[in-house]
Amino acid sequence: MTIKQNDIAVVWLKRDFRLRDHGALHQAITNHQQIVLLYVAENSLRKEAHSSERHYDFIKQSINDLNKQLVPFNAHILAVEGEVIPVLEKLNAKMKLTGLYSHIETGIGLTFQRDKEVRKWCKQNNVPWREERQQGVFRGMKNRKQWIQQWSALMNKEQLPFPQKNAFITNESLNTIAKNFTPLDLKTNSSPLVQPGGEQNAHRYMDSFFNGRYTTYQAHISKPDLARKTCSRLSPYLAFGNLSMRQVLQRTEAEKEQGKRSQGMRAFESRLRWQAHFIQKFEMECRMEFESINRGYHRLEKAINPTFINAWEKGLTGVPMVDAAMRCLVETGYLNFRMRALVVSFFVHQLWQPWQACSAFLAQQFLDFEPGIHFPQLQMQAGETGINTLRIYNPVKNGLTHDPNGSFTKKWIPELAELPDQLVHTPWEITAFEEEMYGFRLGDNYPKPIVDIDQRRKEASDLLWKMQKDPLVYQESKRILSRHTLARRKSNRSA
Ligand SMILES: Cc1cc2nc3c(=O)[nH]c(=O)nc-3n(C[C@H](O)[C@H](O)[C@H](O)COP(=O)(O)OP(=O)(O)OC[C@H]3O[C@@H](n4cnc5c(N)ncnc54)[C@H](O)[C@@H]3O)c2cc1C
Repeated sequence: MTIKQNDIAVVWLKRDFRLRDHGALHQAITNHQQIVLLYVAENSLRKEAHSSERHYDFIKQSINDLNKQLVPFNAHILAVEGEVIPVLEKLNAKMKLTGLYSHIETGIGLTFQRDKEVRKWCKQNNVPWREERQQGVFRGMKNRKQWIQQWSALMNKEQLPFPQKNAFITNESLNTIAKNFTPLDLKTNSSPLVQPGGEQNAHRYMDSFFNGRYTTYQAHISKPDLARKTCSRLSPYLAFGNLSMRQVLQRTEAEKEQGKRSQGMRAFESRLRWQAHFIQKFEMECRMEFESINRGYHRLEKAINPTFINAWEKGLTGVPMVDAAMRCLVETGYLNFRMRALVVSFFVHQLWQPWQACSAFLAQQFLDFEPGIHFPQLQMQAGETGINTLRIYNPVKNGLTHDPNGSFTKKWIPELAELPDQLVHTPWEITAFEEEMYGFRLGDNYPKPIVDIDQRRKEASDLLWKMQKDPLVYQESKRILSRHTLARRKSNRSA
């Protein structure tokens, strides 16, 4: 069946599952008579190493949420399985598309390549493709001279409203079209321990943050358990576009004007700026998906040790703070910044494994996987940028400081639940008498540390400090500073 309307555009949803402040949707509704909202669960992307069903459950929840919001319009999203070009091909054959709209995506190599193919297809089929900016990220920039001005101008622009006009293709017409495609099953198996997706949930989390949780943001930001409540938890909503950064920043400004001014609010606002800063870096140097931005570190030799990697992934390294964080991540999809940095530091320093060997596993676990933050952060934590202070986290010290009574650690490692607080972060210090007393045997109930953490820390530190003097590392550091930092940054060793 061919629908006899001559002006039908597709809004292709990728990581922008919202109806408010949505540039592509707004433009499509302004410019066309009828709109199809399309999501394609791409088989190729689903199989990619950094993807996981956890992300797809979040996407499905987001689609279900949008479908609820679309009920008054008698509309819903065409959510199908397959690949984008064949889907567009079929839609075009049925409906003669007059436009394609989407957001500009700073994704992985696979999505960038796909977008190039889509552009080619659009040209060949005379379907204009308009991409709208949803992040403060600018394509084609050579350096950061103008970045902050452009970012600020975008963030200060007025937000785009919830659709005012019903331009959506009706449910009845869409159901007929849908028969030509493999529908995406929108049922999810997501655990209640994982944050739920969707635009309305995103606003709920944002409200609860500004209505109270923010007050302890600064005090608890590094605590593995308390940070879960007092950090905003907006990251998956930003990563999958349930919220735009502009919405969050403008809300923050409005709350500050209402009197909510504090050190915590300032710290929160800086982090909102870091989001685009990191993504811009990745946009400008996307080879960071595969190799360290600083070419001086490509000579670093690290042999893959599958036993180490397996123990780290399973939370069985024998180092409680690391194991608790890893098990928590696998169950819940979230860790606060410090714990993310700590588990990566342990992997790349104490276990001396290449960051590339933990990248996919972590990305699958993190509900908020955002390539533009993930890859630069991994390299920063690995000490392979040459422009950041080398930080090798001490898991025992961090445990004692940030989980002093061991409640987080014991929750995720029940094997340690009977140990007294002073042994939770150093179970290897248990005496034979205490083993009897607590019914715990190191090596049986819980592993002995798989490495000597202090010795490995020193070895990694010595080697990496030495490398910072390498001429290529130094030359690359200068290049990175001039390309990726604001002109006023002078030092090449600041954090
Ligand atoms: C190895 C590693 C990998 C990371 N991968 C991701 C990722 O894939 N996606 C992601 O959103 N964040 C990532 N981060 C950054 C940070 O840990 C998370 O953004 C933060 O913990 C999310 O929790 P929140 O939303 O409660 O943060 P809040 O502290 O409430 O911050 C608000 C928002 O600011 C941004 N933000 C906060 N910290 C950072 C940061 N250090 N760098 C850039 N932006 C930041 C995020 O968008 C976040 O949602 C990573 C950090 C490390 C060390």
